[in-house]
Amino acid sequence: MTTTARLDPAVPERFPPPPAPGQPTSVLPEEALARVLRGLGPLPAHEVPLCDALDGVLAEEVVAGVPLPGFDNAAMDGYAVRAADADGGRRLRVVGDVRAGEVAFVHVGRGEACRVMTGAPVPEGADTVVPFEVTRTPESGDACARALTELPPAWVEVTGPVTRGRHVRRTGEDVPTGQVLALPGTVVRPSEIALFSAVGRHTVRVTRPPVVAVLSTGDELARPGEPLEPGTVHDVNGPALAALVRRAGGIPVLGGLVRDRSLALVDRLEALAGSVDLVVTSGGASGGVADVVAGLAGSRHAVDTLSVRMRPGKPLVLGRIRVPGGSGGSVERSVPLVGLPGNPVAAMVAFEVFVAPAIARLRGLQHDGVHVVEALAADELRSTPGRVCFARVRVTRDGGGQLVAASTGGGCGHGTGSLLGTNGLAMVPDDGVAVLPGDLVRVRMTGWSA
Ligand code: AMP
Ligand code: MG
Repeated sequence: MTTTARLDPAVPERFPPPPAPGQPTSVLPEEALARVLRGLGPLPAHEVPLCDALDGVLAEEVVAGVPLPGFDNAAMDGYAVRAADADGGRRLRVVGDVRAGEVAFVHVGRGEACRVMTGAPVPEGADTVVPFEVTRTPESGDACARALTELPPAWVEVTGPVTRGRHVRRTGEDVPTGQVLALPGTVVRPSEIALFSAVGRHTVRVTRPPVVAVLSTGDELARPGEPLEPGTVHDVNGPALAALVRRAGGIPVLGGLVRDRSLALVDRLEALAGSVDLVVTSGGASGGVADVVAGLAGSRHAVDTLSVRMRPGKPLVLGRIRVPGGSGGSVERSVPLVGLPGNPVAAMVAFEVFVAPAIARLRGLQHDGVHVVEALAADELRSTPGRVCFARVRVTRDGGGQLVAASTGGGCGHGTGSLLGTNGLAMVPDDGVAVLPGDLVRVRMTGWSA
């Protein structure tokens, strides 16, 4: 009996045969992503004022250089006392009055109290703050004090039990000196801005956000607002991809439209590449005669043409645009290029899967920013065998709190209408087994629509 290995026809082959010369290389999305990210690292960091650091990615570890609070202070308006002699209705002589922002020069001795306002330093000798509502003063008579008079009273009597240390915020009890507040790679959000301000930082080192050029290719494209001639369509990818770049934390540069002419494309790419960190094109990425981005394979800007086993978003071009050194003798550098398919939905899906993680890498983020949830499918979703499907869905919570993913149309194919209301991409495995209503499906959240 022969033992020749045989592939089970029901299981699609995971490792395709090597490509024929001139054919794009067939890869799984993970492999394509690994190629996109190869050689990409955080851009240089710079120091920015804290107020400009929002959404920036930290390029330093921020450590508390001072304790929080910085000094023992009153958590309530009231009287700083020595707990040991404040209990039991003893009358305490008021020896001072300290407000927030003042220095406490008085010393609270036995049988004494000092009036303090919230945030005021607690004077030496005192260990406890008694809120004025549980005190009696000459002005309040037999009742508890209801308000504070302008001048401190001559004496104060505590009308309730006193717990030693109560209402005193101790030096460093919130954040001790040396505590790590944030690690490199952390996105600066309002909490970070608040904490860094509290410990006295007014600038912070963040990675420079990547500048990303977005360029649309196609003879059929009309600029936004331009009247359509027969056979033309409005450029969707320029505005859409620029919006996605901004969402991903990059700075988009609109590279405009380029016709399906190799020389025009090369000229535009070289002009753009000199001032950006990443170039993203759309259209012309497959092997057709008019596919100019794929056609760069023959130019000095070496590119790889890939056929990614996903739907939508199959054709992908990866490469580097060589930017000549300046006249000052600076060395030649190269700028990464990601060529996305032209169909707007395919371009957006491929952006999400390949470009957003690249931007995350350039920003110095510790994670790739991908947020995947498990949801119950509300509709049947069927992939093409051998191609992972990214179907547009709307994820909501049902009455019982369960996440439910409902198709917004287009299945695993295209259709700009499927963008209406979509907030996630349901990932249907490439094994050809359909996801049925009620099945759990993994959804990559996109926030494309509210
Ligand atoms: P391509 O990938 O260049 O073959 O284009 C595939 C499809 O996407 C064609 O129907 C194009 O007209 C369309 N397309 C390409 N680029 C854009 C764009 N920037 N905006 C809208 N549709 C586009
Ligand atoms: Mg085209």
